[in-house]
Amino acid sequence: MRNLDDSGLDRRRFLRIAAAGLAAGTLGGAGGCAARGGSGAIAAESREVPQPGPHVFAAPDLSDGMVMATRAGIRPYRSGRVRVECEPRGSTLLLHNYGHGGAGVTLSFGCAAEILRLVRERAGEARSIAVLGAGVIGLTTAYELLAAGFRVRVYTRETLDRTTSWLAGAQWAPSLVARGNPPGDPAFFGRVLRDSHARFNLLAARGDWGVVRRPNFVCGDGGGGLRHIPSELGGTPEIVARLPIAGLAVPGEVVHTMLIEPPVFLPRLTSEVLALGGEILPRSFESIDHVLALRERVVVNCLGLGTRALVDDPRLVGMRGQVVLLRPQNLPYMLSHGDGHMFPRHDAVVLGGTVERGVEDPTPNAAACGRILAAHRRFFAGA
Ligand SMILES: Cc1cc2nc3c(=O)[nH]c(=O)nc-3n(C[C@H](O)[C@H](O)[C@H](O)COP(=O)(O)OP(=O)(O)OC[C@H]3O[C@@H](n4cnc5c(N)ncnc54)[C@H](O)[C@@H]3O)c2cc1C
Repeated sequence: MRNLDDSGLDRRRFLRIAAAGLAAGTLGGAGGCAARGGSGAIAAESREVPQPGPHVFAAPDLSDGMVMATRAGIRPYRSGRVRVECEPRGSTLLLHNYGHGGAGVTLSFGCAAEILRLVRERAGEARSIAVLGAGVIGLTTAYELLAAGFRVRVYTRETLDRTTSWLAGAQWAPSLVARGNPPGDPAFFGRVLRDSHARFNLLAARGDWGVVRRPNFVCGDGGGGLRHIPSELGGTPEIVARLPIAGLAVPGEVVHTMLIEPPVFLPRLTSEVLALGGEILPRSFESIDHVLALRERVVVNCLGLGTRALVDDPRLVGMRGQVVLLRPQNLPYMLSHGDGHMFPRHDAVVLGGTVERGVEDPTPNAAACGRILAAHRRFFAGA
């Protein structure tokens, strides 16, 4: 099997597949998503189903013995838009960076760059900054500020492996996030996406940050946030006659994006923050008064859902996401189909997932996880 880590998919290969599919008359109609053994034109042509080979990737092993764990995380969703703005409180300049929903990893560096811009505009002579929260938003914010020469202390209640960020997939795509712009800044969201994409692209080229370029094979109405990647950032899908997965005979689309592995990326980011002179300290904030009592006069709130301890924001809601983790497998692609998605990483194959607005219980629900697994088995049935 070819390793697609850095090269991306061979576009000519897909065009050839598309042409072959058309010539054989095996295209099952736009958006069709039946696997081998399904109904209609595709099933009739089942002898044409691709087999594993140099340009066809293996299907996952979804057997019971491969299941390692189930997990649930609570996305900090904010209706309207992500909140990146200043809210002066007495002698403290409070800045907010929260509400990234299902796209916190994706938007992280772009939002951190916006915070740096606001700090430069508003913080005057202050050089010491407190960052509240050490999930992906707090850590990228701290990193940007440190790299720009500020002194930064990061305060966190949880260790890294207990944050929502640790549970992210994570695909680079603006999924499950309100894409609004603040008043007076109609270009905000596009700018955040571009800045973040550029930074992750650089990290993918570095090779040791847990960031790799990956195709996502999209079938039917799968795709979610991929549909919102601007075309200049690779969001225009390539339509193919058959997805190159062994045993499948389904048409689909290929979107070239990135996979970010939190168990590699977040510890690496933490080390960079420390290497730049940042400090990470345990602290729990129960109210805004605790924050205003900090010695720093510039404070960036990156507490995600924990923001509710500081400010009343009725737009901020939890959105539970459950996933099933399978033992690692060598599958250098991602997959999105109508009933789920699959992100194969080095530590696990992540099968998603649920979107449960207003649910904040972090205990995985066995029935929901069973449905996730069943949906993927149905998709790959016959593979
Ligand atoms: C199942 C799942 C899959 C996901 N997949 C993707 C994906 O593919 N791509 C993507 O881009 N995003 C994905 N996300 C979304 C992403 O995980 C979140 O948007 C992101 O983690 C939010 O980061 P955060 O730093 O704001 O919050 P968190 O990671 O929750 O960090 C919050 C920090 O604040 C601290 N804190 C909170 N309250 C307090 C307090 N009172 N006092 C002190 N400290 C406090 C916590 O200890 C922690 O350090 C996914 C999320 C889930 C649940």
